[in-house]
Parts: sequence; structure tokens; C-alpha cells
Amino acid sequence: MALLRLRKDEDPILRKTSRPVTVFDKKLRTLAEDMIETMHAEFGLGLAAVQVGKLRRMLTYDLYDDTGPGVLINPELISSEGTCDGVEGCLSVTETRGYVERPQKLVIKAHDLDGNEVTIEAEDLFARVLCHEMDHMDGILFIDKMSRIYVPEENEEDEEFENGEEA
Ligand SMILES: [Zn+2]
Repeated sequence: MALLRLRKDEDPILRKTSRPVTVFDKKLRTLAEDMIETMHAEFGLGLAAVQVGKLRRMLTYDLYDDTGPGVLINPELISSEGTCDGVEGCLSVTETRGYVERPQKLVIKAHDLDGNEVTIEAEDLFARVLCHEMDHMDGILFIDKMSRIYVPEENEEDEEFENGEEA
């Protein structure tokens, strides 16, 4: 396992579209392990492959409860329900956090590391993290969608996405 270098801010790769994964081999598994290690080292809730310089449609997540860590490959949104406003940060965007509206609930179809099709249902924070990471695959950052900047001093009671949690 190895820590990967995080791409940040003005790095042009963050604006590129990632390609679907077609080969499910040992190299892919190693990338997934390294992404999880990198995400954990930064206390991130999620990480898209493009954030470590790999233009592959692949993400890792960990909500630090019993749902993770996990890996989703070639994720596709199948359906979504409701909306939910919350604060987001990003391991690739230094300093800024902001409010972004996301679906409250969603269903995603994806592949696992063996290439098997999986269906994931997610709600609230998990749904938010998955949307955030899927946007990365299309070169979209949360700052493109945020309605306003989050100022921690003004929002001490806000527990939606605690200070320090980034994806
Ligand atoms: Zn991010």
C-alpha cells in the first residue's frame, strides 16, 4: 500500500472527464487500496480516482461507521429522491467549504473490484458523498454548485458535515 499524491485546486486534471474502467485486474485492486489509504490519511469521507491523478471512473468512500470502506467502479445514478442542503468540503479544494444541495436519497448502479454489478442505495451523508465523487468523474467540483460559502464561526451548531470532513 502507498499514499498517493492528492491533486488540488488549479490542477487541470481535476477538470477532465474520467474514463470507464474496463479491466478489473490486480492493478485496479492496488489502486483501490492506495486510494483508501490516502483517503484515510486525510480523514476524507470519499475520494475519486481523478483526485490522485487517475482518470478512471472509480471512487472510494468511508463514513467511519459500519458501511465502509468501500469501492465503486463506473457508478451510474439510477434514481434520486428529495433534496438536502448541507456543507461540503473537498480534499482537492483547499480552504473553502460551502453549502450544496444534493438528493436526499439515491440508487446507484456500479461495478465492484471483480467487475460484478452492484446496486447501492444511499441516504443523507452517504448520498452526498457519492454525488460529490461522481461529479469529480465529470470534472465538476462542489464549488461549481455551492450556493454559499460556509463560515465555521457562524455555524457552530451545524453538524451536517463537520469541520474537517472532506471528500
Ligand atoms: Zn472532492
